[in-house]
Order: sequence, then C-alpha cells, then structure tokens
Amino acid sequence: MSPSRSQDGSNEQYGAEERSGARIQALMRQLNEQVYAMASNAEHDESVLLICECADSGCSTPLSVTCGGFERVRQSPTTFVVKPGHVLAAEERVVEETPDYVVVEKVGRAP
Ligand SMILES: [Zn+2]
Repeated sequence: MSPSRSQDGSNEQYGAEERSGARIQALMRQLNEQVYAMASNAEHDESVLLICECADSGCSTPLSVTCGGFERVRQSPTTFVVKPGHVLAAEERVVEETPDYVVVEKVGRAP
C-alpha cells in the first residue's frame, strides 16, 4: 500500500509535504528520541513503548522496542522501527525483524 494523500487536512503544518514519508518519519524519530530519553535509565533488554516510524502519516501504532534495539536504530538517520507489515517495500529494506517490530533502512525510491 502506498502512502496516499490524506483528505482531512488536520495537520496543516505538514500539509505541503504530506506526501513525503521521510518528513513524517523524521518527526516520529524526534518523538521516539524523547520517549527513549525518558526511559534511558532502563535496562538494555527492557522494552520502551515507541511509536511506529512508518511513512504513513496516519499511523500512530505503539511498538514495544527494547532499549538495546532502539539504541542501534537511532545510530543511523536512515533506519527506522516500524510495525511488521508497515514496511514500504519500494523504499525500505528490512535489516532486522522481531515479533514486535521491524527495523528498516531507507534505500531511496526505486527508479
Ligand atoms: Zn506504521
């Protein structure tokens, strides 16, 4: 499924670039960084509840991600945690798969 233009226009600030999944994902990353920062005293294998970082602007699916797992993901601005099934196959490559979440790497739009 491709991210389609949303009709509700509820998010005016990002309306102009609503087709850009990257923008949404960067936003979700910021949010998750904050959540993660608050949980930074958690154990490495303890899970934090993050928001799915897929390209769908309407998605706010909670994901249970281990601190160690997110630590690796946040090292790179091109990797994101998404719910299984939320991978945008045309633009993302799966680099890690768990029952709770999938780590994808942006590979750019295929020609
Ligand atoms: Zn999602």
